[in-house]
Amino acid sequence: MEIKTIKKIGVLTSGGDSPGMNAAIRAAVRAGFYYDIEMFGIYRGYEGMISNDIEKLDSGHIGHILERGGTFLKSARSDEFRTKEGRQKAFDNLKSHGIDALIVIGGDGSLTGAHLFYKEHGIPAIGLPGTIDNDLSGTDLTIGFDTACNTAIEAIDKIRDTATSHDRLFFVEVMGRDAGFIAINAGIGSAAAAILIPEKKMQIEDLVEKLKARRKRKKTSNIVIVAEGGKSGGAAEIARKVQKFLPYYDTKVTILGHLQRGGAPSSYDRLLASKLGVMAVEGLLAGKYDVMTGIINNKVVYTPIKRAIVDDKAVDEDDFRIAKILST
Ligand code: ATP
Repeated sequence: MEIKTIKKIGVLTSGGDSPGMNAAIRAAVRAGFYYDIEMFGIYRGYEGMISNDIEKLDSGHIGHILERGGTFLKSARSDEFRTKEGRQKAFDNLKSHGIDALIVIGGDGSLTGAHLFYKEHGIPAIGLPGTIDNDLSGTDLTIGFDTACNTAIEAIDKIRDTATSHDRLFFVEVMGRDAGFIAINAGIGSAAAAILIPEKKMQIEDLVEKLKARRKRKKTSNIVIVAEGGKSGGAAEIARKVQKFLPYYDTKVTILGHLQRGGAPSSYDRLLASKLGVMAVEGLLAGKYDVMTGIINNKVVYTPIKRAIVDDKAVDEDDFRIAKILST
């Protein structure tokens, strides 16, 4: 493949925000400056590309953002970018600034957009896995996932205090879209009584039996973690079904929701975002286009975007077994 000379790189964050996006932007911009490249911020993801909300960045833009949650470039979902006409507008705007490469930080949808845009307009693009859901292949963990798990665990610890004091049965719903990664990690890390994830169907009767058995063993707190995309319904629905069989419990539901997206990134997310931001710039300069950077077994790797977005990353069977053993 021909390696293009890259002089101006545009950076954007797209889709759901995740802690560590700011750290990734900062690392990419600093690396760009290091290699004498002009760096541009594209605001509100693909929306800003279409509306020409694009600004040349200097070091002032990226001061003290490493430690902040969210994304100073803002994020958005853009229906117009899904159309050929929308992408043409975006391309014309990039051209008007002379931007010749893109770094896209986002989830599988955002990376799909980058892939299509590269195919259509030939602008070299590299993706960074920015999502709390951890549902991208080509990286062990995505930027924001570790922080989201920490936030969930901290919240569940607090819920446990009241659960134990009142002998309550709690159903806590965590985020993750169709993936159970946050649920399984937060569940193991907070000693959950049971973990319900989309990848594994658990019959209500089995859950009831499990909770009855725990009661017999005089377990004083029972917290069930429910992934939002679960096949048996959300936490409220499951709680309703279970309550009928366990009337002696005061049953409560807590939906952690967007709390899990916010907050300062953990040390792991800062490190991951910083490494991937630098490697994204170096990847573009080395002619690695239409790929996503990630870390697998502690090594930075580049995976074709088409491969990274394939929905085949599964919760580890060992993790599921470990969770089961520890909650008996
Ligand atoms: P998260 O996992 O946090 O939801 P995401 O990146 O998967 O993040 P999406 O809403 O799926 O979030 O995608 C973000 C944006 O990427 C969309 O609003 C759209 O602009 C663009 N996009 C997604 N899919 C496509 C597609 N098939 N073609 C063109 N653009 C797309």
